Amino acid sequence: MSAETSVGAIRRRGLMLVLSSPSGAGKSTIARSLLESDPGLELSVSVTTRARRGSEIEGVHYHFRSKREFEILRDNDELLEWAEVHGNFYATPREPAEKAMAEGRDMLFDIDWQGAQQLKEKMRGDIVSIFILPPSMKELKARLKRRAEDSDEVIAKRLENARLEIEQWRQYDYVVVNHDLNAAFAEVRAIVTAERLRRDRRPGLFDFVAGLLEEETE
Ligand code: 5GP
Repeated sequence: MSAETSVGAIRRRGLMLVLSSPSGAGKSTIARSLLESDPGLELSVSVTTRARRGSEIEGVHYHFRSKREFEILRDNDELLEWAEVHGNFYATPREPAEKAMAEGRDMLFDIDWQGAQQLKEKMRGDIVSIFILPPSMKELKARLKRRAEDSDEVIAKRLENARLEIEQWRQYDYVVVNHDLNAAFAEVRAIVTAERLRRDRRPGLFDFVAGLLEEETE
């Protein structure tokens, strides 16, 4: 039996998987591959005040909102965490995340260190956080340029911000260095599998083990 099957058969708590990295370190690609390969994982779609990029779809990649709309959501306590990143506001909507946790579903949060910190304070044991590092700053810059979705000015700002983001590496449970995308992805998958198997996340084990011990073997 595979780890996934045995995990699925026994009731457990939902997992809040937080993925952070400076932009360009490969986090979005890893997040996408993870979501495609794992039907048991869903993405928390953030709210942002930044402009929509050409390839992005409202409600799929982000909920794009004006600053005023963002402030209303924040003041009505509809945001689980929020932060200012690169001069724009980003936030995790409260309701979908709390519902997923209550129903034992796993959710992926592609958020920065400020958001990771806030979620850790609020959700404690349900959080598993992974930080993705680039192999070098040179490679990070090259990746940002290759992406060509942002202006030179924005790229410079993101690189500056990357250093501040990298300084936060210690607050994460796991650190993955993305030398090679396939290898980094495999490491992230291994973390998810192991965390799903943790005893303290699986209240269903009590009944399972009780059943095992009651089973007649003669
Ligand atoms: P981008 O503009 O490239 O999509 O995202 C910029 C940064 O904002 C990324 O590091 C991303 O992880 C972060 N981010 C996206 N959504 C959220 C959110 O809901 N909360 C926080 N704190 N950061 C977010």
